[in-house]
Amino acid sequence: MTQQSFGVIGLAVMGENLALNVERNGFPIAVYNRTPEKTDAFMHTRAQGKNVKAAYSLEEFVGLLERPRKILIMVKAGAPVDAVIDQLKPLLDEGDIIIDGGNSLYDDTARRTRALEPAGFRFIGMGVSGGEEGALNGPSLMPGGTKSSYEYLEPILTKIAAQVEDGPCVTYVGPGGAGHYVKMVHNGIEYGDMQLIAEAYDLLRNTLHLDHNRLHEIFAEWNTTEELNSFLIEITADIFRYIDPDTKQPLVDMILDAAGQKGTGRWTVQSALELGIAIPTITAAVNARVMSSFKEERVAASQALTGPTGKYEGDAEAFINMIRDALYCSKICSYAQGMAQLAAASKVYSYNLNLSEMARIWKGGCIIRAGFLGKIQHAYQEDPNLLNLLLAPEFKQTILDRQNAWREVVASAAKLGVPVPAFSASLDYFDSYRRDRLPQNLTQAQRDYFGAHTYARVDKEGAFHTEWTKLD
Ligand code: NAP
Repeated sequence: MTQQSFGVIGLAVMGENLALNVERNGFPIAVYNRTPEKTDAFMHTRAQGKNVKAAYSLEEFVGLLERPRKILIMVKAGAPVDAVIDQLKPLLDEGDIIIDGGNSLYDDTARRTRALEPAGFRFIGMGVSGGEEGALNGPSLMPGGTKSSYEYLEPILTKIAAQVEDGPCVTYVGPGGAGHYVKMVHNGIEYGDMQLIAEAYDLLRNTLHLDHNRLHEIFAEWNTTEELNSFLIEITADIFRYIDPDTKQPLVDMILDAAGQKGTGRWTVQSALELGIAIPTITAAVNARVMSSFKEERVAASQALTGPTGKYEGDAEAFINMIRDALYCSKICSYAQGMAQLAAASKVYSYNLNLSEMARIWKGGCIIRAGFLGKIQHAYQEDPNLLNLLLAPEFKQTILDRQNAWREVVASAAKLGVPVPAFSASLDYFDSYRRDRLPQNLTQAQRDYFGAHTYARVDKEGAFHTEWTKLD
């Protein structure tokens, strides 16, 4: 009996689509799902006529696979991944390769690697981005683990990944949890992008009172620009055009303004805090989702807490262009933060990340795909040790040229009472980063005053303590 080259466990939306992608690229597959009815449904519909064999037990599943077995686990992140690995382990042979393609926490991936590799198995923790459409037609893949294990998978992964002009959107990311770490930061950046777009929308809608046709036109036009051309701007333009069949209103207006989250944004912020890296734009994006979730409380507060509302009184067309510039400058700051976090994690966790390659594999397939990533790829190609993206020639002049527009937008938003937490967090990041002297000299004095924490001086070496109350 011929054996299948690749196995997929978990037939929810991502597992099904990745399985079909692998099969379409010439690799016969075997599939298994805990609930057999889902396997049946898949086999009788989308898998019909394809080189797919279904298994109804894990024993049967491993028996269908050629060795070394290559098994992609695509189940809910967390305890289910451990449960599947525990059930698989006794059935596998030395050298078999387990790939966890879910949104697992990088620490969990490192732990699983430590448990599986000494037992003779190979383990790859692989970030997958692109949603269901990407999984089917070409995702961005971020595999981490032992390099020799990745090499067994490379012929398959390079075929199923999205293809851009300079290659497939996959590369060996680094050891242990590196792949899932990079996917987590990708998601954090995605939170930032989405919040920045939401703020631009809020300003256009609520300070210029633009209707949905005009919003569609503006985002469609921004999507043609070199700076903002991206998947998220493109789908935003589409969203404004969609009319709800029930109410005949733009569907976006009928959607409850309370955003969900599954945890990767929060993990990004938690990890940045542990590493001592400031990612204020991404943090603001996570907080904005949290604030949005208090819908009832906000509705009540809206009656009690008054403040400015109103229309932008200046030149509307000029303000639209300023919002575009503010969006772009803020986006640069957000990516600067995400890349700084990756650089720090690479050092602390010995991931040895190639940041130019990380930008390259995000150019296609994934949710943050954008023309702009080519500039980031180039910036790190030119200087792999670049301290901050804001200093790269690709971005420095752009931000300097547009900062006045950006400041006008943030100031106008404050005056008109429109919250722009990610726009202003980005501007604060820029202003903090470019200042040679910040007010934390005072913070240090206070710390020394109440806690004898000592301070350094600008004019001589050493650690100093003052008895502040004995000044006179
Ligand atoms: P999901 O809803 O996260 O998970 C459903 C799958 O997990 C089903 O196949 C389910 O099997 C299985 N499962 C749950 N608990 C299990 C257990 N204890 N033992 C065995 N199987 C178990 O599916 P998904 O949306 O396709 O996502 C899969 C993974 O990819 C997740 O980690 C997700 O975060 C990640 N991801 C998702 C997207 C996306 O756009 N959805 C994008 C990128 C990454 P049953 O049918 O038996 O319940």
